[in-house]
Amino acid sequence: MNILIIEDNEQNMYLERYLLESSGHRVSEARDGPAGIAAARATVPDLILLDIQLPGMDGYAVARALRALSELVAVPIVVVTSYALSGDRARALVAGCDGYIEKPINPDTFVALAEAAMVNGRSQENETPRPAAFP
Ligand code: MN
Repeated sequence: MNILIIEDNEQNMYLERYLLESSGHRVSEARDGPAGIAAARATVPDLILLDIQLPGMDGYAVARALRALSELVAVPIVVVTSYALSGDRARALVAGCDGYIEKPINPDTFVALAEAAMVNGRSQENETPRPAAFP
């Protein structure tokens, strides 16, 4: 699958990319929000992995911007963050994200969590209301 990683930390980027490519996925990279949004529009990936602590535009703002783009409506967004604050998971969901992976990245579970997010697709509770089917 095609996965876009939006992450400013080189070690995290390297590890995520290595683990995903080792499992046969294709990875594209962006180091900040605007670059990530541009890459998402250009490639329409199967999954976006999104850091929260990014320079300038934080991950929540990036998620809201991505969710405003109709061409990305079906693309799951999973937050990958070391924030341990209570309510952070809920905040990610409110911003339009579909899942949450905690840092430090656990090499034993990371790929399975990312793959599960692609299989599950968009979270039900975040699903954009669809127009009623034609009669
Ligand atoms: Mn970061």
